[in-house]
Parts: sequence; C-alpha cells; structure tokens
Amino acid sequence: MAKKSKAPSERSGNRRFSGIPASPGIAIGPVRRLEDPDSEVQELNLAPDQIDPEIERFHRALEEAKKEISELRETTRRDLDEDIARIFDVQLLVLEDPLAVDRTENAIRKENKNAEFLFRRHMLEMRDSLAALADSYFSDRAIDLMDVNRRVLRHLSGSARKEDNSLEGVLLGKELAPSDAVMLDPDRVLGLVTDTGGATSHAAIMARARGIPAVVGVKGISQAVKDGILIAVDGFSGTVEIDPPARTQERLRKQQEAYEEQEKHHAALAGLAAETPDGHRVTLSANMELPEEMTAILSHRADGVGLFRTEFFFMRFHRAPTEEEQFRVYGEAVRKAGPAGVTIRVLDLGGDKTASYLGMVKERHSFSGVRGIRYLVEHPKLFHTQLRAILRAGALGKARVLFPMLSSVKEFETVQSHTREALASLQTEKATFDPDLEMGVMIEVPAAVILADELASRVDFFSVGSNDLIQYMLAVDRDNAALQHLYQPFHPAVLRALKQTVDAGHRYGKPVSICGEMAGDPLAVPVLVGLGFDQLSVSSSLIPTIKQAIRLISHADCVEIAHRALDGDDAQVTLDKIKTRLGPGFPDFKTKAGSGDRGRA
Ligand code: PEP
Ligand code: MG
Repeated sequence: MAKKSKAPSERSGNRRFSGIPASPGIAIGPVRRLEDPDSEVQELNLAPDQIDPEIERFHRALEEAKKEISELRETTRRDLDEDIARIFDVQLLVLEDPLAVDRTENAIRKENKNAEFLFRRHMLEMRDSLAALADSYFSDRAIDLMDVNRRVLRHLSGSARKEDNSLEGVLLGKELAPSDAVMLDPDRVLGLVTDTGGATSHAAIMARARGIPAVVGVKGISQAVKDGILIAVDGFSGTVEIDPPARTQERLRKQQEAYEEQEKHHAALAGLAAETPDGHRVTLSANMELPEEMTAILSHRADGVGLFRTEFFFMRFHRAPTEEEQFRVYGEAVRKAGPAGVTIRVLDLGGDKTASYLGMVKERHSFSGVRGIRYLVEHPKLFHTQLRAILRAGALGKARVLFPMLSSVKEFETVQSHTREALASLQTEKATFDPDLEMGVMIEVPAAVILADELASRVDFFSVGSNDLIQYMLAVDRDNAALQHLYQPFHPAVLRALKQTVDAGHRYGKPVSICGEMAGDPLAVPVLVGLGFDQLSVSSSLIPTIKQAIRLISHADCVEIAHRALDGDDAQVTLDKIKTRLGPGFPDFKTKAGSGDRGRA
C-alpha cells in the first residue's frame, strides 16, 4: 500500500508538476508545508490597544533568542573551543543593537505594525548596508544578522523548533536543509517534495536512507500549493500531482504494491553473496547516516558499513556531542557491524551541511568553501575529540577512519599528524584503542585523482565520493536542480577519473571503494565492477537491487562494458548502450517504475 492516505482538507484544480526522482516509492497525503519563518512574515496593522502587548511580545522573543544563543555559546566553549564560541558574541551584540531593537520598538509605536514585519525590515536594511562593504569580515557578519533574524522570527511565530516532529503528511517546501532532514520521523513524514535540490543533495540522500519517497527540484511548487491539500508523490518518475483524481490514486497504489512485492523478492537475496556468475566477489557495504539505520543494514546482511557520515548525527544535537557520546555511537556501530567493520568518516560539515551550534553559516560558494577536513584542521579540539572516539571504538571491533575533501598530500600529512596526536593522548592515559587503525581518504576532489599515486602510497585505502567528484569535475553543483541534466556520472571524463583512481590504488595494493550515489545505480554497477572497484557502498535500501545487479552479469562482461564506456564520448550515448546491452530484465527501479533518466545519480 502507498504510505497512508488522507482525505483532502481543501479542493483545488488538479495539477501535475515534474521534478527529479530522489527516493523511490509513492506517497499520497495532505501537504504539510515546511515553514520558513523568514518568508512567512506578514505585514499586519495593529489596533492601539495591541501596541504594548506587541512590544512585550517582541522583547520576550528577544530574551528567548538571547538565552538560546548564550546556551549555545557556553556549550560550544566548553565542548569545543573559545574561538568558535566567539561567533555567538556577534549574534548577542545584534540583539542589543539599538538599530535592531530600539528602532523596531519605536516603529511598532509609530507605524502600528507587527514586530515580525518591522524587525525583519530593519535586519534586512542592516544586512544590505553591511553587504555593500567590500570587506569580507563585514559581509560575513551579514550572514550572522540573518541567522539572528530567523531565530527571533521563529520565537515570534511560536515555532521555535524547526524540527517539528508532529507534522504528518507530505512535507513540501522550497528546500530542506540536511540539519532539518535528520529530524524527519519516517512514521509521520509520508513523502518529501522540494523546489530545489538534486538526487545527490543530502536531503535526498537522507530521504532514501529513511525510505521516504521524494521528488526534488520541482520548480515553483512551494508557491503553488497550500497546506492541507491532497498531493500524490511519485518517487519513481519524479511526478507530483496536486489533488489527484481517484483513478490516479488507484494507479499509484498499484505501482507501490508492485514495488513492495519486488522488495520482498529482493529480501530473499539477503543470504546470497554479492558475486558475479563467474565467481568475482564484490564487497557490498551500506552507507549510514544515523545510528538507527543499523537495523536495516543488518537485515540486508551488508558487508559492514562502507561510509558512516558522522556529521548527520552531530546535526541532531544542539551542541557538539562529547567524546563519550561519540564513542558510544561509533562503538555500538562497530560492535554490530561484525568482521566487515565500519568506515567512520570524520565530520564533513560545510557545503549544504551546517550545524548552527558550531557557528557555521552557509557560505556563498559553500561546496568549495570551508568543508570537511578544511573545517576540522581549523578546529583542532573538535577534530581531536572525534579522532579519540574513533580510535577507542576501533578497540571494540573493526573500524577505519576516512578523511573527506582532501586535495593534496600535505593535507593527508596534516590529518595523519592530528591522528598521531590523538593516539598519543590515549596512550598517555593508558586508554584502550586500536593502535593500527586504518586511515583512508575520500577521492572526491579532481586534484586527488591527479595525485592518486602519491596518495595511494601513503594511505590504507581509497573511497571515491562520486557525488562530489562529479560536481567538481563537471563544474555542476550537485544540488542545482536546473543543471541536473549536466550532472553526468557516465561522462567520459568522470569514468576515466574513476579508472585512474582504481588503477593507482591497486598499483600500491590498496583497496578502492566507491560510496557516492553512483554505486547505488544498478546501471553503473557493471561499469564500476569492470573498472575494478573492490567495494561498493550504497544506501541500505538499495543493497538488494545492487546485489541482484552484481549477480546477473559476469565479471568478463563487466570488464568489456567498462572498457567500451571509457571509450565513449557522450554520457547519454554510453548510458543508452549499457541499457541496450543489459536488456530490459536488468534491475533499475527508475526505469521499471516508468521514469526516464532525469536525476540519475
Ligand atoms: C560523495 O561525495 O560521493 C560522498 C559519498 O560524500 P557526501 O555525499 O556526504 O558528500
Ligand atoms: Mg562528498
């Protein structure tokens, strides 16, 4: 059955939209709009007797925001470092600034308008004058202003907790930040639809990990749809239908039933090896974002966790988790994963993933900004705490540490020396840890591909982050809905970069894994296996499909398909040839469910 269905609370004309299929499945239910306090502000006229209560309400919201920021400052200072904590001082100063506070209060009296409207107006004016200054220090403060603005508006609107778990229905909004995606409750969120984003955006990755049908990049939908209206989300084809007629609902329910039937059939594969018919074994592991995904990972009998994206569970906290808290999470995962172990990636914050309690804000060019290890080496206390927790977890089973966003050998030497320091501190304390923890790097920046030999000679393993590698190689932001047709995993330059990486790793006897969304695309499987990847790591929900793909085609055929793909000069032609070669029986949830190739990850 499609995820729960409810009667519409409002009727409107039936309308269809199309976007990028981001997570398979069908959802039919009422729209629950993801409110952005900033864009929801209305201009209201107040009666004279409403003025004083309005000013009181404004001051209450300021006090609550102040309290929240002070708490964040204190926990950040205690658990991380004073430098990060100081970011919040700027925000506290804004809340005392007469240009923001007195001016709003005076304007409420003079103009008889509501606090939200006037506060926001003043904050925007302040932002614009700061942004006009050439100095980047001041333009960065403009971002702080907007953070304060949103915080105060949230308190004014009474919806201080963005992560409102009581929402039930199909979530719909302009965009969903990864820090909000981690709060989604799959029992209440039937589906997800956003104006922006691509199939490799982290909100899409989270939706897939949590089994929530999703369509992203549906231009303009948030403007067109009201709260409560019935909507049908087709996560196979990327179609979204408002107020769908009964016959459409019936067709979609049938499609969902067929999908669930297919999933049951796949479950029978759990006990079988990820091995080609001619006996070539591939390590098939799961990607993990949140600890609770371990149940599904174990039920699919994955070969351990090939990528634990630790930043996601950090985003669930309102302060950085302590070493003990981290150790518990990593240790539990390591214990449960068994001999195949867990590859624990150190925090990859930045890009579209920010944790506001770390004082992080979205940068203008965030994907090429302070991200991954670039952030960690600037915040050694945070880095050190995480490395200690990972080293300690290594004593409970098999753990490996993985470093994201490397672009030079020097950077590897830097993270190596941080790891040595963490290790030495544990040694001094006579703590229990894994002294031989394997260290690997993500190959996701083109420079790392070019330096693959130099890196391979130093590291224990490679893990290719195709999501980022594709965006950086092709200069196409992974979450830019308008450019998804140019985001091409089968682009010859991408395929050749993958080959260079695998070959370099193997020249030095180092295993090479791929953990980007490309590994979860059945049509990419023959190419990746043929190129020589030792390990594929995919969203746990995709393990059965990928295992089925591996079991269907011989290693010899994979090598031939990869060889031809490398010679191709056009991504779409290459993909079409692979499809023809594999035939219609090859697993592909997207084409099976009747969609085209848009958004293929
Ligand atoms: C990648 O870039 O492919 C990857 C696996 O990491 P993330 O999606 O978290 O950036
Ligand atoms: Mg990445």
